[in-house]
Amino acid sequence: MDKSRTHPDYELLAAYSAGSLPLSQALCISAHLEHCPDCMRQLQRLNRVGSELMQQLKPAQASDTLKNRLLDSLDSMVDEDDETEENPIDPSIPRCLHQFIDSSYDSLAWKRVSPDIHSVELCRDANGARVELLKIKPGGSATTHTHLGDEYTVILEGSFSDESGLYRQGDFVVKGASDRHTPVATQDRECICLAVTEGPIQFTGFFSRLLNPLIRRGYA
Ligand SMILES: [Zn+2]
Repeated sequence: MDKSRTHPDYELLAAYSAGSLPLSQALCISAHLEHCPDCMRQLQRLNRVGSELMQQLKPAQASDTLKNRLLDSLDSMVDEDDETEENPIDPSIPRCLHQFIDSSYDSLAWKRVSPDIHSVELCRDANGARVELLKIKPGGSATTHTHLGDEYTVILEGSFSDESGLYRQGDFVVKGASDRHTPVATQDRECICLAVTEGPIQFTGFFSRLLNPLIRRGYA
């Protein structure tokens, strides 16, 4: 495994393989997998183990169904040829996000959150977790914030750094509710992230206290 990158841990990948993750987290894992051959290989091993286990445990019809579902999902992850010319979507956008995007990141209805940040909500899952894209301008800061639940981020374009280090395209970052951090996009280009938050973000910087009621309203 390439240690210079940031990856989902084994438990998350196993839950993804078993199909037991909420949609929001599964989207983040999928987006990461499209950039990370190491995690993709690990997932394929997990899928094989899961498939064999199912065959041993339930040799009846149900196991075939489950096995086929696993194999289908594996096929769809591996198959690079399923995008036809009819599909005009920017190929740099992860395939798991194509269902939310017409053509390019620019085609989305971005909303201004702060001078440095625009966001667009893609969906919410059954648990109420919010799936959104964040766009941070070059050198821009997402201000210091904490969250009520875990925050999952996958860097889709550009890079950002925070107190823990530098994160690059494809990196998968999890911050717990108690982690206070200040992501800052690198100067060379804007940074676009897939972000999942399980609860309202609490901005803790001085000016952003003013923002909090607005942010919270988004979750009402
Ligand atoms: Zn990985």
